[in-house]
Amino acid sequence: MNIVLFGPPGSGKGTQAKLLAERYGVPHISTGDILRENINKETKLGLEARTYMDRGELLPDDVLIGIIKDRLSQSDCASGFLLDGYPRTLPQAEALSTILTELGKNLDVVLNIDVPEEELLKRLAGRRMCVCGASYHILFNKPKQEGICDLCGSKLYHRDDDKEEAIMNRLDVYKDQTQPLIDHYTQAGVMLTINGAADIGDVFNEICRLLDDLKSGI
Ligand code: ADP
Ligand code: ADP
Ligand code: ZN
Repeated sequence: MNIVLFGPPGSGKGTQAKLLAERYGVPHISTGDILRENINKETKLGLEARTYMDRGELLPDDVLIGIIKDRLSQSDCASGFLLDGYPRTLPQAEALSTILTELGKNLDVVLNIDVPEEELLKRLAGRRMCVCGASYHILFNKPKQEGICDLCGSKLYHRDDDKEEAIMNRLDVYKDQTQPLIDHYTQAGVMLTINGAADIGDVFNEICRLLDDLKSGI
């Protein structure tokens, strides 16, 4: 299945994507993780990305479109993919549709994870990340050992863009540039909205139920 996980910063896209990738055996493609990997490796892309990300701003569309085109062309996407953090603008959504047509694929569903803003603020402020892409929360999703990733044993860190000023900017950017995609995908008939304010396990079960229904209908 070809899936886009959609939602504001902190809605739980990455958390759900990790669980879904395991259950359905499709790759989790997170543009944020790809960019952070490039920052860690100090690549040319990483150096460019850093200036935007620290301020909570979006990178230029052409950069992201190039990344996604390369990634979706890889062989592990043959049986499906889970996109997390892309598309974030209308030009990115239009480019995705062109890329998929070129690759002979189509988009099965856009899952919109809906979470009230005050909950997003709490989630982002308490989020702790791992270099492997896993995310935790100091209250809602604690690692087994404080400050250490359950999956790979690395030390967790607090993202620079999860500090107050950048959080507010990212939420504004979401409302301005990304939220309009809800109408776009609703009109395309592929949008499903999920209540993301429940526990991680409950949100996961709800998504699995929707995807299983969809799969049996395909
Ligand atoms: P996104 O990828 O959409 O930005 P994350 O998956 O990184 O969001 O989740 C943001 C923060 O909220 C993380 O700290 C995560 O552990 C926590 N979180 C995710 N889902 C839930 C949930 N359903 N309830 C409470 N906290 C959650
Ligand atoms: P979140 O947890 O807020 O959903 P991500 O990890 O997906 O954040 O993205 C972090 C940052 O990476 C964004 O604030 C932006 O600077 C950059 N970024 C990620 N995906 C995109 C995209 N599709 N278009 C432009 N910038 C992006
Ligand atoms: Zn880890």
